[in-house]
Amino acid sequence: MLEKYYPSEYAGSAYDIDYRRLYESGIRGIIFDVDNTLVHHGDDATPEAVQLFRDVHAIGFKTVLLTNNDEERVTRFNADIGTQYVCDAEKPAPEGYEKAIALLGVQKNEALVIGDQMFVDIIGANRCGIRSILVHYIEVPGEKWLGFRRYIEMLILLFFRISRRNISGLSDNRERNT
Ligand SMILES: [Mg+2]
Repeated sequence: MLEKYYPSEYAGSAYDIDYRRLYESGIRGIIFDVDNTLVHHGDDATPEAVQLFRDVHAIGFKTVLLTNNDEERVTRFNADIGTQYVCDAEKPAPEGYEKAIALLGVQKNEALVIGDQMFVDIIGANRCGIRSILVHYIEVPGEKWLGFRRYIEMLILLFFRISRRNISGLSDNRERNT
């Protein structure tokens, strides 16, 4: 019942992922959410974000940004990165994901979505049959208020972790919020 919300994997951050392992597993194209996945909502690219794209491109990945935000926002973020993007994507609708796959020029089974929202990034990836990694949203010191949806996400994530433990006996030691 909850499987449609489950990512393929969970990671504490987009910056903590072993991208070489993903490449070795056959992934060739990465679809990145921007806000709260790579930077705090609305922020420009940080040096860390710019370096991440250099690193994944050096491994051999193609990348695309997939965002519900508008062109002004994504081009500002993308200024020092220069990757492809789909803006105003209306995630979780499948059309944006299909455009992103076309831009990557890879098969769906070679693509991966990385995003911070289960009800947006992950449910959309699942509808399209694309693998995904849910990351913990970028937190800013002093930002206390959490939307109701975040609490529901945490609850579903708990069921996801329990289901993974029951299947594989594995736990993810990279998680920050345990
Ligand atoms: Mg996001």
